[in-house]
Amino acid sequence: MQLVTIGTYDNLYEAELAKIQLESYNIPTVLKDAEMVHLMPIYNLTIGGIKLQVRDLDEANAKSLLIAMSEQSGATCPSCGSSDFISNYKSTKNKKGRLAVILSFLTGTYPPLHYELVNKCNECGETFDTA
Ligand SMILES: [Zn+2]
Repeated sequence: MQLVTIGTYDNLYEAELAKIQLESYNIPTVLKDAEMVHLMPIYNLTIGGIKLQVRDLDEANAKSLLIAMSEQSGATCPSCGSSDFISNYKSTKNKKGRLAVILSFLTGTYPPLHYELVNKCNECGETFDTA
């Protein structure tokens, strides 16, 4: 039995929500790097977020449950049409966000990060507006 990552989240609340939803279907889950991202959000960019992991034998079932739960919102990715996306993803891929990340790296400090809330597709990686 191995653990496989079926979703990544940039904040603990969304990760916990997905974990609780899967565990309500008796699928045991593990949140990897949750404490690190929650305590030091700046490291979220380097460690790739909080990973929601399940046993390999639960992978297909858990993925289809997560997709079904996100389909309830009715939104889809404009690029590929997938409904498998992270909502309210904090994107720093704009001028102010990149500047804050660079300043943080160069000075070793933690300036206020500038980010935009977007949806990020898990299939194609495209970001799109939440509205
Ligand atoms: Zn997409």
